[in-house]
Amino acid sequence: MSNDPIDRTGLRREFWKRFPLSELPLNEWEALCDGCGRCCMLKLEDEDTGKIAYTNIACRLFDDKSCNCGNYALRKQLVKTCVIVRPDNLDEILHWMPATCAYKLIDEGKPLFDWHPLISGTRDSVDEAGISMRDRTVPEFEVDEDDLLDHTIEGMT
Ligand code: SF4
Ligand code: SF4
Repeated sequence: MSNDPIDRTGLRREFWKRFPLSELPLNEWEALCDGCGRCCMLKLEDEDTGKIAYTNIACRLFDDKSCNCGNYALRKQLVKTCVIVRPDNLDEILHWMPATCAYKLIDEGKPLFDWHPLISGTRDSVDEAGISMRDRTVPEFEVDEDDLLDHTIEGMT
């Protein structure tokens, strides 16, 4: 069921194709986020290869039912390790962002997927395409450190 906290109204037509990421106003920048929640999951990095494995272990502030941050406005104050995606830190963070992330796709010159809310017109399509983390996570405080590997998601990059 759709529960999109992002206001995707009043945006310039296909702005993501026409303007560089660094020049987007805040509302368009935020509208690029598809709300998948993948970046709010714990990630494991292979020390030797640098390869990132995604898990279904969610940040303690992640709301599994809505697939939203539990306190978006105060996220950085409440979770020190939360990374706020901004034009000026993309170079440092894109290597661990999921391959489906709109910021990553556009940075790589790729088109958005048909299920992106800016294309489909609804956030429901992110759930229907199996991209969102809604209803499939466990909170970080419920997982023992020794069990982290049991929670990796096969095929998610
Ligand atoms: S991975 Fe990208 S598109 Fe998905 S929630 Fe995070 S910032 Fe938004
Ligand atoms: S604080 Fe919110 S936005 Fe940041 S990682 Fe946690 S759930 Fe995601």
